Amino acid sequence: MVELNETHDPTAKSWLDSANRADTDFPIQNLPYCSFKRRASEEGYRVGVGIGDQIIDLKALACSGVFSGSPLKGLEASLQSQLNLLMAQPHEIWCSLRLALFRALRQGAGEVERVRECLVPQQEVEYQLPCQIGDYTDFYCSIHHATAVGSLFRPDNPLLPNYKWIPIAYHGRSSSIVVSGQNFHRPHGQLFPPGSEYPTLAPCKRLDYELEVGILIGGGNTLGRSIPLDEVDKHIFGYCLLNDWSARDIQAWEYQPLGPFLAKSFASTLSPWIVTNEALAPYRCTWNRPKDDPQPLVYLESPFNRQAGAFDMDLQVLLETDQMRKQGCEPSQLSHTNFRHCYWTTAQMVAHHTVSGCNLQPGDLLGSGTQSGPSPEEAGSLLELSQGGKHQIELCNGELRTFLEDGDTVILRGWCDSGNGIRIGFGDCRGTVLPARC
Ligand code: CA
Repeated sequence: MVELNETHDPTAKSWLDSANRADTDFPIQNLPYCSFKRRASEEGYRVGVGIGDQIIDLKALACSGVFSGSPLKGLEASLQSQLNLLMAQPHEIWCSLRLALFRALRQGAGEVERVRECLVPQQEVEYQLPCQIGDYTDFYCSIHHATAVGSLFRPDNPLLPNYKWIPIAYHGRSSSIVVSGQNFHRPHGQLFPPGSEYPTLAPCKRLDYELEVGILIGGGNTLGRSIPLDEVDKHIFGYCLLNDWSARDIQAWEYQPLGPFLAKSFASTLSPWIVTNEALAPYRCTWNRPKDDPQPLVYLESPFNRQAGAFDMDLQVLLETDQMRKQGCEPSQLSHTNFRHCYWTTAQMVAHHTVSGCNLQPGDLLGSGTQSGPSPEEAGSLLELSQGGKHQIELCNGELRTFLEDGDTVILRGWCDSGNGIRIGFGDCRGTVLPARC
């Protein structure tokens, strides 16, 4: 089973009050990583760790001389603008740095004043991508999403024959991945609406979001060598939220026969925080395959994967329109689901990705695919919620949507909460649609 340690103790409190509040995403049991600097300053970006409403500046912490031994190795690997060097370290180094940070922040710790001097308020910072993303692969691992989308095009046969055998994916584009808060213009592309004689170049009219979990790879594998299913955990550094913005009308015309291309590569938004695989250990849950479905091939099957391969992680999508901002309304919830409904586990995704010998590297990003739950209101995209644009969705202030309008801000949230007052959150992943460029 999953090994829990001192850093998962649900009774642990920090000497920092804001880390002990019930509504914080960043209690002492979380300790997620980011890359940050003070807003509008000339400072360089550096690596930090979230705690309550603050960030510990790891560069400042290294200068303070509080750590030594194995945690110091991890700290030294964090003295970069982004996390790739730390991600490339062995799993044991990640664990020893986490333990040392936990002990330094726990109530009763020594050296509190020296650590306190390394804190920067989250309200005062801006973020960049937490790591330099190498390759980006996007999976399609929610059977509820695949079935709902397949039903729009093939009502009698929504799932293609390979779906229940292979964790389906395509290779995406990493250059257009942006950090939360960075907005983008509505993309242009070739559109060929039904009834038209020819395709035309125009701004996308069916702009959508996709609610996904991002998997960030730490230590990779040598080209030609696969990662066995039960060893995958040592290769996953952590998880984040990912909005795979999608231009449905561009996609409909371009996707055959090779799959998505420009419909998916104009922007993808990543949350600034990487929640480590270790922080999520208490929230693992069983993974099951319905007995009437094909059972996984041997390389995708293990008792551990059955016992603890899935994650009990809440996922939520909110929409904030221009009008809501003017009216001072709260954002409207579009859906709420859970990552445990995923048809394949993240370990199965990685084992499958490498089974051919394809090499993964520190900083590679895998998207889980749009996460939709079993009921229609748990859908992770507007394509599903609006049933292909046929049904209007009413927002909390009475506005209607089928697809996204200019000025719309989509906010993804994710958290694990087992009801003991500890919430391991991911922070917000947000992006706003700007009007198409002329
Ligand atoms: Ca996607």
